[in-house]
Parts: sequence; structure tokens; C-alpha cells
Amino acid sequence: MPIYEYRCDECGHAFEMIRSVSQSDQELHCPICKSPNAKRLMSVFSSCPTSDSSSAGSAPSCRPGPFT
Ligand SMILES: [Zn+2]
Repeated sequence: MPIYEYRCDECGHAFEMIRSVSQSDQELHCPICKSPNAKRLMSVFSSCPTSDSSSAGSAPSCRPGPFT
């Protein structure tokens, strides 16, 4: 199951949730401030093409950030 990344529009808190594809666009409440304005950023699962497995490891350039 893919991991989705969300960020709260109210408090800016970023968090990850494992959800099924059918749930990915459902309303989500921020775990910090309970705001319903958390927005999905992108799927970590498929956001980074693994073109070179020999250099696998941390790939910070594939992150969607910045979150602030
Ligand atoms: Zn929040």
C-alpha cells in the first residue's frame, strides 16, 4: 500500500499516512490541530524513479519539499 504525504494548511505540520488508493483523496484531519485542511503532497512510493540501483540509498533530491 502506498505511503502518502500530507501537509496541514493550518499549522504546517507534515505527516505521512499509509492509505489505499481509493482512500488517498478522502478528507484527512491533521493529527496536530485536527484541521480538515490537510493536503496530499505526493506519493513517496512512486515519486522517485530508481534509475540507478547501484547508488541506492538516501536520495534527498527526490523529496518534494520544502514543507515550510
Ligand atoms: Zn494542523
